Amino acid sequence: MSKPYDLILRGATVIDGTRAPRFEADVAVEGDRIAAIGSLSQSTAKLEIKAKGKIVAPGFIDAHTHDDRLMLSAPEMAPKVSQGVTTVVAGNCGVSLAPLNLGSKPVPSPLDLMGDSSWFRYSNFRSYVQELESKPAATNAALLVGHTTLRIVTLKDLDKPANSKEIKQMQGHLEEALEAGAIGCSTGLYYEPARAAPTEEVIEVCRPLSARKALYCTHMRDEADRVLDSLEETFRIGRELGVPVVVSHHKVVGTPNHGRSKETLPLIAERMKSQAIGLDCYPYCASSTILTADRAVHATKTLVTWSTPHPEVAGMDLKEIARKFNLSEEQTASKLRPAGAIYFTMDEADVQRVLAFEHTMVGSDGLPHDAAPHPRLWGTFPRVLGHYARGLGLFPLETAVYKMTGLPAKTFGLADRGVVKEGAYADLCIFDAGSVDEAATFARPIQAAKGIEAVVVNGALVWKDGKATGARPGRVLQRTP
Ligand SMILES: [Zn+2]
Repeated sequence: MSKPYDLILRGATVIDGTRAPRFEADVAVEGDRIAAIGSLSQSTAKLEIKAKGKIVAPGFIDAHTHDDRLMLSAPEMAPKVSQGVTTVVAGNCGVSLAPLNLGSKPVPSPLDLMGDSSWFRYSNFRSYVQELESKPAATNAALLVGHTTLRIVTLKDLDKPANSKEIKQMQGHLEEALEAGAIGCSTGLYYEPARAAPTEEVIEVCRPLSARKALYCTHMRDEADRVLDSLEETFRIGRELGVPVVVSHHKVVGTPNHGRSKETLPLIAERMKSQAIGLDCYPYCASSTILTADRAVHATKTLVTWSTPHPEVAGMDLKEIARKFNLSEEQTASKLRPAGAIYFTMDEADVQRVLAFEHTMVGSDGLPHDAAPHPRLWGTFPRVLGHYARGLGLFPLETAVYKMTGLPAKTFGLADRGVVKEGAYADLCIFDAGSVDEAATFARPIQAAKGIEAVVVNGALVWKDGKATGARPGRVLQRTP
């Protein structure tokens, strides 16, 4: 009898993350790696999990998160591991926790979606990485450094383009972050503190990406009337730097733009022939970010997710709050700020078209510190597997799994992740294909998904029997282009 493995998943149906058809096998784990796949009836393990009739897939990679702080403040990462997520890509939309030491200064919006100034305490990126490594979370992390964070730490006047001295300083911060382990830079050109940055500023600040072929990820300047211009701007930045780009949470916003994914997706497909482009989306036709009156005007309905001066309105409809205050919606929005909101601004047909597009990854864009968060925080991945793959038949389950495993692992350069293969890291999700789905709703958003049976990160069980095990095996992942 050979020496026992650490873990065997018995009688599983394996969906390996490559889009290959599923197959039956036992899966054995030794240390942090997958040791064997096949008929292992002659082998034993210290821990055996019956997986007959269940799917064993690679752990999901959340391609778009704002989990920079969650990994430190709630390291069991329940909103994520409860969905089968084993790696999060953090620091998106120009917003990263580091490098920014605010002291007691107020947190400028939209950085406030991650918390108060006590969380912005890292003068350099390395000190943040070191804290994550010394107090690991349950999930792995791939980290982006945010251009808006760099602007806030560097610029005297955020309403102007950076001058050449400021660009040099931001390049220095980006170089330091890449050296410390960041896999790329994100921008949030839509948001106020970055709006004044012309394309040329972004290109110059991001120069350090070129030598490492690090990523450029972007919440684009415009996802509404000028979405095509914004795509072209993104592609130009990628071409001039010679690096891959990722279009974050791709969508077309506002009623007049409904249907325009028929223009954006062919453009992306065409440009992909000559440069590296990735994109992600969340499977909902409502977005969520900070509360602003101009966003609310373009939404058919707006729900408040948090408000510092009026925490009691979290979860309520802006119209209803305006009626209570006897104010206009615009006046109400400014009375509630700083605040967050959910905006119903998209068309379901566009959401499905983007999600089904061959090259689209799944990213939650969940906002983990909101009092009444968008249900995408707890529901994104099971919703794609349950509602969209099983329910609507938008694509086969193998494709759904690929969009959340093999595809993001390749896009972000996460070697030996996102695949069930001998020798790969043992990041695994065991789920029931017949019942997997989100439980979170807009009315009750904080709920663990259905059908996620067990989740393994680097060989350690992090979720079992509907709760976090308390294990924190997460690592900060490097990029292998
Ligand atoms: Zn964003």
